Amino acid sequence: MPDHTARLFSQEKAQALAWINRYARSGFVCPVCGSKNWLISDHVTQAPRFAKDFLEGGTATYPLILFISNPCGFVMPFSSHLMGIPAPPPPPPISPPLAPNPLQKDY
Ligand SMILES: [Zn+2]
Repeated sequence: MPDHTARLFSQEKAQALAWINRYARSGFVCPVCGSKNWLISDHVTQAPRFAKDFLEGGTATYPLILFISNPCGFVMPFSSHLMGIPAPPPPPPISPPLAPNPLQKDY
């Protein structure tokens, strides 16, 4: 499972590579440059919904693992759920900044 920073470890990368090789009929070929050399993103990324609240925490997103063509850089996103790689746990809550104390004097 990815950690709370959504980092993928070698086990998840190997799982993603095995998944893509299972479904790619004649090799996983980049549609731009024809390369079969792919890099796998170091993190699970996400695609937000197209809605006003897309940046609010706890709203629905779609976790993705990116395959990046080497050398051209073309990026193909795949669902981490379908690859069997669970979404990372939610990050720890961010503490709100302390409000300035109006009674405190800076001398
Ligand atoms: Zn390419």
